Amino acid sequence: MSELRRNPVTGQWVILAENRVERPQEFAFQEVALEDFQCPFCEGREQRTPGETLAIRDATSERDGPNWRVRVVPNKFPVLDATSNGAGNIMPGVGLHEIIIESPRHLTSVTQLTDGEFAEVLLTYHRRLDELANQKKSAQATLFKNSGPMGGATLSHIHSQLIATGAASAILIDRGPAFEQHAAEHGECPICEEVQESEKREGRIVAATEHFAAYCPLAARFAYEMWVVPREHAPYFHRLDASLLAELAGFFRQMLVKLEAIVKLPAYNYIVHSAPFDSARANHYHWHIEILPRITNLAGFELGSGCFINAVYPEKAAATLRNAKV
Ligand SMILES: [Zn+2]
Ligand SMILES: [Zn+2]
Repeated sequence: MSELRRNPVTGQWVILAENRVERPQEFAFQEVALEDFQCPFCEGREQRTPGETLAIRDATSERDGPNWRVRVVPNKFPVLDATSNGAGNIMPGVGLHEIIIESPRHLTSVTQLTDGEFAEVLLTYHRRLDELANQKKSAQATLFKNSGPMGGATLSHIHSQLIATGAASAILIDRGPAFEQHAAEHGECPICEEVQESEKREGRIVAATEHFAAYCPLAARFAYEMWVVPREHAPYFHRLDASLLAELAGFFRQMLVKLEAIVKLPAYNYIVHSAPFDSARANHYHWHIEILPRITNLAGFELGSGCFINAVYPEKAAATLRNAKV
């Protein structure tokens, strides 16, 4: 059982999830040899996770058996559970928390996947978000990856997570109003503006394909922070034409390879930002994937002020990433 509490001073929500302390902590027990650590995400250990909600697997294989390529399972230690509603500053933690296991093999970076394998991972994100949007039980969903201990990962086997909050508990920050305000002031969506600017000069652009672009944002919070975006304005990732997922996979993976080429042992988070499912402001939203390298820890000033200090100008970061040998 988890609980949501809203701080009346800051207005921010906190999820209290006591059962999380029982999670397996591979990184916290480095003295345990990796081969002795029975990774619950490897093929052949399907019984060590809750039953799958979705999988891309061989046609002849059986549910919760081997011969899969991507598997989605409920998190054994969820931060939210599917229970009743509440009100005010304290509510039960209502929602859904799933793990997307991105390979049957014990790989530790998605850059070790082929473009085709990574395309199936993105297809899984796409399908799962599409299902949640259609079920109309969730208001918002956050799809994210923690990579490396500095990125908050507790298991090294590549995986990402999906947290969806119930329709009654819109606790996540909706970027819709900021998009709307920018459009009202500048007559244009801020991401469309970046894409158009990148067509004129290199600036903060890292690379582009026919349908996608990657750039370091004007006010990047982290050194080498990169946003991967569709060049055409669109609010929802799950409505992207599935035929474009292969192009996105090749491009997105290449951006991660570039990051790994310039930052040793990279830890990062990436987050798929898509408009809230039921937002009246969704049309203003431009979906985007943020790649946030975690080179330094968040410190007192960031925590105290909410303002980030970044030691690498995004213009310089973009030039370094552009020229990174991949
Ligand atoms: Zn594994
Ligand atoms: Zn746009």
